[in-house]
Amino acid sequence: MKQQKNTAPADAPEPTGSGVVPFTPGPFSLGMKYLEIQQEAREFARSIEPVAAAADEMSEVHPGVLKALRDSALTQLMVPGEFGGRFARLDPLAICVVREALMATSSHADSLFALQGIGSYAITSAGTQAQRAHWLPRIASAEVLAALALTEPEAGSDLKSIKTEVTVVDGGLRLNGTKSFISNAGFAAYYLVFAYEDSGFTMLLVPADAHGVSVSPSPELIAPHVLGEVHFDNVLLPDSARLGARGTGLSLVLATLGVFRVSVAGAAVGLAQAALEEAVRHTRTRVQFGRPLARLGPVAQMLADSWTEIEMARLLTYRAAYMAIDDPVASLHHSSMAKLAASEMASRVVDRCVQVMGRWGLMRGSKIEKLYRQARPMRIYEGASEVLRLGIARQLTEEVV
Ligand SMILES: Cc1cc2nc3c(=O)[nH]c(=O)nc-3n(C[C@H](O)[C@H](O)[C@H](O)COP(=O)(O)OP(=O)(O)OC[C@H]3O[C@@H](n4cnc5c(N)ncnc54)[C@H](O)[C@@H]3O)c2cc1C
Repeated sequence: MKQQKNTAPADAPEPTGSGVVPFTPGPFSLGMKYLEIQQEAREFARSIEPVAAAADEMSEVHPGVLKALRDSALTQLMVPGEFGGRFARLDPLAICVVREALMATSSHADSLFALQGIGSYAITSAGTQAQRAHWLPRIASAEVLAALALTEPEAGSDLKSIKTEVTVVDGGLRLNGTKSFISNAGFAAYYLVFAYEDSGFTMLLVPADAHGVSVSPSPELIAPHVLGEVHFDNVLLPDSARLGARGTGLSLVLATLGVFRVSVAGAAVGLAQAALEEAVRHTRTRVQFGRPLARLGPVAQMLADSWTEIEMARLLTYRAAYMAIDDPVASLHHSSMAKLAASEMASRVVDRCVQVMGRWGLMRGSKIEKLYRQARPMRIYEGASEVLRLGIARQLTEEVV
């Protein structure tokens, strides 16, 4: 499918001091800054295409993809300019546009990219100057990998039911507990750990090599992912390991979701677009009943519905990401809507694409089969659809006068 011509209008505003170009609502197109980033991300995706299929089947970090990411400047988008970042502050729309391009080619690359921000934002928000100066430039260059550890064996959507606990001891803090399904486990240089403290919640920065930290494998998923269980056994930490004040852990999780939840929607749009393009290539050339499949009514209808739904989700996603630039937490319900809509859409679209490709949609090792598997977890991580709906409905009932 040809990329839509998407040029910035001549009167596109100049970048502001924050490096954020205001969205130009008239023609509903991305501004020049975002088009350039999109181009950069697409070129990166093309460069790793030869290894994407292999990397996406790995539950360890693919060295070639990591090297390519380090050689690119993409992860500079994940930290503020003061610490080696691209712009003065993080730009959720730029991050979205990159994830859209990466996920279309490789979920492995998408995850490595996304985690650099998801696993460092609490340091950006609440780290000390020394913590920021130490970690953020290394995150920006992808010299080290980041991880955010919220989920536990008994606590998923119900985050407040975690059991990992931090207590104050002589000379610092002691951490005990287990985190489950943690992306980048075993490869990250540190874990941002969400822990229970004094009937509140605290976020801790725990170096991966701290005494008492160990990692074991998570179960293999239908769509492999770099995942592990992280165990904290009487880990002793200095007071400075607590990010921000005691009891502010939940607000740091919210701040992280505010910036990054919408980026999952961007990735879902990219995945759906890639699936549709596979289906179009197949149905344009395969002839049944004397006509290309794409000209047979029900098949044409599935293609048309899919394209339409992708465009709807992309618009919602870009808009929510744009809203998140200025106040990510205030616009979190828009990010939730975009994540819900785009991830559910991606599942529907990729399912239709498999259907219109007939038996070619079922071949193990094919791109469409890979996308079919990869779409599924997106409706579960970073806010499962049902839980997002609860939050969106709550917001709605509060807003309507
Ligand atoms: C690929 C992948 C990567 C991940 N990476 C990380 C990571 O890096 N760090 C991390 O901390 N976690 C990570 N996770 C874990 C992820 O955050 C959890 O899977 C997610 O929070 C959902 O929790 P759960 O799987 O325990 O499902 P559950 O919470 O048990 O939910 C199961 C089902 O019940 C529904 N449900 C739950 N509560 C309600 C409710 N109140 N009302 C209605 N329905 C409800 C859910 O929507 C879902 O459909 C990852 C997961 C995956 C699959």
